[in-house]
Amino acid sequence: MLPFIRSDLAQFTAYKPHPSSNTDEPVATQFDRLDTNESPYDLPPELKEKLAWTYQQVIEINRYPDGGHEQLKNAIAEYVNESANLTPSLFTAANISVGNGSDELIRSLLIATCLRGEGSILVANPTFSMYGILAQTLGIGVVTVGRNEENFEIDLKAAQTAIEQTQNPPIRVVFVVHPNSPTANKLTAAELAWLRNLSEQILVVIDEAYFEFSQNTLVGELAQRPNWIILRTFSKAFRLAAMRVGYCIAHPEAIAILEKVRLPYNLPSFSLAAALVALQNRQLLLSSILQTLNERDKLIAVLSQHPGLQVTESAANFVYLRLKPNGSYRQDATLQNLHQQLKNSGTLVRLLKGGLRITIGTSEENTRTLARLQAAMANFES
Ligand SMILES: *Cc1c(COP(=O)(O)O)cnc(C)c1O
Repeated sequence: MLPFIRSDLAQFTAYKPHPSSNTDEPVATQFDRLDTNESPYDLPPELKEKLAWTYQQVIEINRYPDGGHEQLKNAIAEYVNESANLTPSLFTAANISVGNGSDELIRSLLIATCLRGEGSILVANPTFSMYGILAQTLGIGVVTVGRNEENFEIDLKAAQTAIEQTQNPPIRVVFVVHPNSPTANKLTAAELAWLRNLSEQILVVIDEAYFEFSQNTLVGELAQRPNWIILRTFSKAFRLAAMRVGYCIAHPEAIAILEKVRLPYNLPSFSLAAALVALQNRQLLLSSILQTLNERDKLIAVLSQHPGLQVTESAANFVYLRLKPNGSYRQDATLQNLHQQLKNSGTLVRLLKGGLRITIGTSEENTRTLARLQAAMANFES
């Protein structure tokens, strides 16, 4: 260990986008990449051309980007109002902060709330791993609770106890995903009631990365809840994962704090331009969602017929697949094996402790996923 490095960093491992691969080879494009919940559809050629033109004719590469993001924030505010059927002027640029992916915003939120030993965070596993990872790199404590095995509801009793009993430092932030990743379920009524009852001393971060698929948002409640912040991203339904643009919606006071801690030119000009073009063409881009939802429902219908597999409802562009309890094999080992067999046959999916998370791809990809899953499962039944 380098002698000048913080001692607690020694045990960390760097985030690997494809943690399942045990080689450092680049991911071959012939793989069906169903492990990171991106859209399977690249931008339509006419939008790519428009962006290429912007890059060549409009953006001055020698100049710093627009550090205030005003134009993009206005466009986002308009979209947020429209997509939640709110009064057109309810949210404005003053309610929006933009990040280099929502990952940057998660880090900014942690910096603004918990640093200097002032707070820890609460998450319910399994959930999006970046909350915990980013907190740990900042030396922030992570308190975890579990979920109900049937409907993936947060263990609210444990969560409440954790909030009452965690001290030095207390829990300052609760992170939830709506719908959750990897389990794909929306927040339940009980979870919502619990979140609404939390003290205003605690920041509630509601990550709506999959909002465009679920069409279920809590932005309408933000006005009454000064301790809530909603996170969104352009990486999923808007098909801009390569551009790294995320945003959050919150009270102007909270936004002002986030603006204080962010890096001055956190978004490249090209990413800003891409997000604007995406919003201006949202109808075209988001029109692929219906196809994804149909594909998802077909996949779930077939998978739920399989005697060895357990698949649950999904409100997002992925499904969470578990093995039916079976005395004759070890769940962990079988899941790992299934994951490896899928990879060997050309499909990348995300392996988690209790299951596999499979992104909905193109129709062809999903057909291959099914065939490969069924073939792999047949190997266990012999
Ligand atoms: C994919 C995803 C994001 C998006 O992160 P970006 O940094 O914006 O790409 C955020 N939250 C959750 C839960 C996700 O699944």
